[in-house]
Amino acid sequence: MITTVRGTRDILPAETPSWRVLEETAREVFAAYGYQELRTPVFEQTALFARAVGATSDIVEKEMYTFADRGGDSLSLRPEGTAAVVRAFIENNLHRSLPWAVYYMGPMFRYERPQKGRYRQFHQMGCELFGAEGPLADAEMMAMVLRLLRRLGVDASLTLEINSLGCMACRGPYRTQLFAFLQEHVAALCEHCRQRLQRNPLRILDCKGEGCRAVARQAPFMKDHLCGACADHFQGLTTLLTALNLPFVVNPLMVRGLDYYNRTAFEVTTTALGAQNAVAAGGRYDGLVAEMGGQATPAIGFAMGMERLALLLDAAQVKLPRPDIYLVVVGDAASRQGLVLAEQWREAGIPVVVDPLGGSMKSQMRRADRLQARFVLILGDREMTEQGLLLKNMANGEQVFLKWETAVAQLSALAA
Ligand SMILES: [Zn+2]
Ligand SMILES: [Zn+2]
Repeated sequence: MITTVRGTRDILPAETPSWRVLEETAREVFAAYGYQELRTPVFEQTALFARAVGATSDIVEKEMYTFADRGGDSLSLRPEGTAAVVRAFIENNLHRSLPWAVYYMGPMFRYERPQKGRYRQFHQMGCELFGAEGPLADAEMMAMVLRLLRRLGVDASLTLEINSLGCMACRGPYRTQLFAFLQEHVAALCEHCRQRLQRNPLRILDCKGEGCRAVARQAPFMKDHLCGACADHFQGLTTLLTALNLPFVVNPLMVRGLDYYNRTAFEVTTTALGAQNAVAAGGRYDGLVAEMGGQATPAIGFAMGMERLALLLDAAQVKLPRPDIYLVVVGDAASRQGLVLAEQWREAGIPVVVDPLGGSMKSQMRRADRLQARFVLILGDREMTEQGLLLKNMANGEQVFLKWETAVAQLSALAA
């Protein structure tokens, strides 16, 4: 037997209603803030991710599905959403029509060790806003993320964490100071962090290792070494969040791996699935568009993993679809006539499910019941003779006889 590939899964019909609610709610909320949908290919040139995500990042070095196509080009399945959005922004000359506010949703691919709730094909949605430089955009984006989560029924346990990563001007001097501090404490760091001490000392601040965390808590923090402009931006953000009545926690240990991330970084975490887990992560990347060869454009964005959100979704919001009208047909002649009638009704806009297996009336009624059909139409020998149908209201058991030629009008009233 051939099965799904390790780390992938089917989303079966019992689950897809949750996904639909998630997607539709997100579309509504994003649209309410002026975001439009962008759909990019699921594979791109490998070089795109090497540049946007970082050639030495774990994602690019170890986790991408990279392959040579038949023409010999190196392509990769997208491991995240932002790189392609930036590419599309540059490629379509959209710097001429700023602001550009887009959202995306869809499958992403990473070759990671599969764990509970983590897949090699997983889904993300996110927003990217190009052109807005000030903290207003940052605060509004956070308000949007929190609004979406509350709409999805994730509420009480949400925490908004923010930090500033500084900019090109102030991060250099800070980095030197941090490096000196970490060198003094190198003995307490994990093997991995010792290796990246030269290359990327900032990432040591968010290492999960016991020893590294103890060192990180004592380290100098970026937020205390911001230049004037960065300090103003951060101050502006916290003032706006307070004005919006959005509680936040400053987490000085929240960092990002790459140089083009600057100023605002944020995460929303929840305890709704047990341990404190991030459900959304985002921040500014004012340097990325230029890094990718475009005209320097300030930008901010966030992404959310959809698997976790689908699990968190308030069950009360998710209704499994149930048929309004279920047609039970007994006998060969009735089956043929039932098919003809059902097509006439559908032509008139009336949805109707025809029992696909036939057999006894009893077994067909059982299937109608299992699908929680509101009305059942019965077409058997007697109804064939009388050119009619028996309509049964499943809620109260009431039955009425309909003639074929007048059924459309009566059924449209039911399906409304
Ligand atoms: Zn700065
Ligand atoms: Zn470490």
